[in-house]
Amino acid sequence: MIQQIACPNCATEIPIDAQQLLEGKSFSCNNCNTSIGLAKDSNTSLQDQLKVFSDLKKEPSGK
Ligand SMILES: [Zn+2]
Repeated sequence: MIQQIACPNCATEIPIDAQQLLEGKSFSCNNCNTSIGLAKDSNTSLQDQLKVFSDLKKEPSGK
């Protein structure tokens, strides 16, 4: 399942495969090369990202 989350550094949307993410694969932002992954240390921040992303989707037209 492909999802997009906003890069925590530059807000570029990064396509991630949720299945691969859960398996420990990390993904990089195409714009600034920030790494996104389920490292134990960043678990909470990723969950925040996903929560923010779902909040954004609720808005009718953000920009
Ligand atoms: Zn970025």
